[in-house]
Amino acid sequence: MRLIDAQKILQDYFGYADFRSGQKELLSLISEGKNTLGIMPTGGGKSLCYQIPGILLDGTAIIISPLISLMKDQVDSLHTLGVKATYINSSLTSEEYNERMRLLSEGYYDLIYVAPERFDSPFFLTTINKLQISFIAFDEAHCISQWGHDFRPSYRSIIDTINQLTQIPFRLALTATATQEVIEDIQRLLSIDDQSVVNTGFYRDNLHFHVVKGQNKQDFLINYISQHRQESGIIYAPTRKLVESIHAKLIKEGFRAAYYHAGLAEDVRRNEQNRFINDQVEIMVATNAFGMGIDKSNVRYVIHYSLPMNIEAYYQEAGRAGRDGEVSNCILLFSGQDSHLQSFLIEQSELDEEMKALEYKKLRAMINYCHTDKCLPCYILDYFGEKNPYHDCGHCTNCTDQSEKVDRTRDAQMVLSCVMRMEQRFGATLTAKVLKGSKDKKIKQFELDQLSTYGLMKERTEKQITEFIHFLVAEGYLSTGSDRFPILQLTQKAADVLKNKEQVWMRQTEIQQVAETDFDPE
Ligand code: ADP
Repeated sequence: MRLIDAQKILQDYFGYADFRSGQKELLSLISEGKNTLGIMPTGGGKSLCYQIPGILLDGTAIIISPLISLMKDQVDSLHTLGVKATYINSSLTSEEYNERMRLLSEGYYDLIYVAPERFDSPFFLTTINKLQISFIAFDEAHCISQWGHDFRPSYRSIIDTINQLTQIPFRLALTATATQEVIEDIQRLLSIDDQSVVNTGFYRDNLHFHVVKGQNKQDFLINYISQHRQESGIIYAPTRKLVESIHAKLIKEGFRAAYYHAGLAEDVRRNEQNRFINDQVEIMVATNAFGMGIDKSNVRYVIHYSLPMNIEAYYQEAGRAGRDGEVSNCILLFSGQDSHLQSFLIEQSELDEEMKALEYKKLRAMINYCHTDKCLPCYILDYFGEKNPYHDCGHCTNCTDQSEKVDRTRDAQMVLSCVMRMEQRFGATLTAKVLKGSKDKKIKQFELDQLSTYGLMKERTEKQITEFIHFLVAEGYLSTGSDRFPILQLTQKAADVLKNKEQVWMRQTEIQQVAETDFDPE
């Protein structure tokens, strides 16, 4: 495969003038037959990186994708371009299945899309073992890694199966979300060397990030969508019940909205999804079951009604906005209680203790995102360990907040010395109780009312103190271990604050929001 031919296909079949950043580099590695990993943002144009080689290279390309809806959409659009492509999954009738398998065995297709489970079928394996396979692509490759936020064991087991084929084809892995751990895991599992990783970074400057705190969520939501009536947007809610009640509320208020969650029958889900994709309704209210593989380019906003599980999930869901490159808003509505549901879900999960600890650590980073004063996309890039070549983004909540910063060094010293006197053995809740001077029985039990810091902040509410502690964690004055019940620990920065070597500044709005939160009816 020559790049010049790839360019021609790009223009003749797909009608695009030039490759986007990363596409050419990936295609060049693929043309050399190397195992390759591509990390590009959602909407970055990953699909073309396997579609073009699929068309150009001899043999059939196998595209493994966890999503049935994506397969169908892509195959439909490839058909309109005259490409010989198909998909094989559980939605087919037996006639369709037999016919496609027959054509597959004859080498008719340039590309076939399959779900990971297909590799469990001996008939499928025998068929592809006799076939000339051009390459195998792993779409959403982070699902391979148990460090990824969407690990699928069936994805992982394909690797062994492929290694048993008579002729082992080269692999192409593609993902939009990958932390360094996940990248290394994918490289190891698929034998991809460092020179064959193309990482365009995932910063998307058309996405404007906002965290909204201390406001009534429902009022904010209704107000926002009233002001953006003509625009398409997704509202993510954490539970099916909440999806249904928000949806009902929006309909009642006269908005055109669809809804989606895994508890709905498949035909209902498909119908709701289509109404949104075809612009019959502007709004989609959904759980995180919605969206993977959905190619809707004009989503102008993604609102999270509650805290997502971790930054990976958040960035992926928020990233469904603005795939067309136009300015779009990613808004997270946060209230302190949000984390309880996520902790509960981790606790209920079947993960082992080590994995649970990891999930808690990730959740904590997500909570810190809501408390930080830093530029929000910079925080996200830091989280992913990506070098940040950008200055502050200039449009997120924190960059646009003009409010004055207030010196909270004194308050910080009270909290930090309280943590020290509690021997760094307790979490934010109990620390706040001590500072408040609460009569909670745990305080008596551990004799914390004997400490000199007991009641030191009694004029504040417990909630205000807790929020302030979270702020100190987000800003790195305190750290928390990875445990179900995070224990507060002092950092070097804390030592500097206690010695009056460093001051702690907090935005005025931040303080007001904490105060307002107390009157939040939720
Ligand atoms: P991803 O899978 O990375 O999320 P897609 O492959 O779905 O992204 O591409 C997103 C959109 O960008 C699609 O509409 C696609 O047709 C378009 N696109 C891809 N490559 C190019 C290009 N080189 N020039 C213009 N548009 C492109």
